[in-house]
Amino acid sequence: MSRPTRELSARQLDVLKRIAAGQSWAQIGSDLDITVGGVGSIGKQILVKLGASSSAHAVHLAYQAGILRRERHGDHAGFVAHVRRGEDPWACEQGCPEGERAYRTQRRNQRKENAA
Ligand SMILES: [Zn+2]
Repeated sequence: MSRPTRELSARQLDVLKRIAAGQSWAQIGSDLDITVGGVGSIGKQILVKLGASSSAHAVHLAYQAGILRRERHGDHAGFVAHVRRGEDPWACEQGCPEGERAYRTQRRNQRKENAA
């Protein structure tokens, strides 16, 4: 697996995540309070850094290189992924707290069974 030689800046990574999530440049510009032209120039920097020929290619390469990761929610692994990203997993609104509670209950019951 080839790794890009140059790291993306936090801003470039943010834009790339939004492109991967299907946002238009206009949406990205409005969210980040920059012009569409500004988004375009960040987009070009991303292509150069990743050696990509298009936005779709950049997203593909970024997943391959592990720069972008599939986000998982709703279970213990999703909960742990939040912690690794430095986020508060209990604040997740996509089911991670519920999944983690279910996981902990299941673990507790298993321990009880093993002790019995
Ligand atoms: Zn989550």
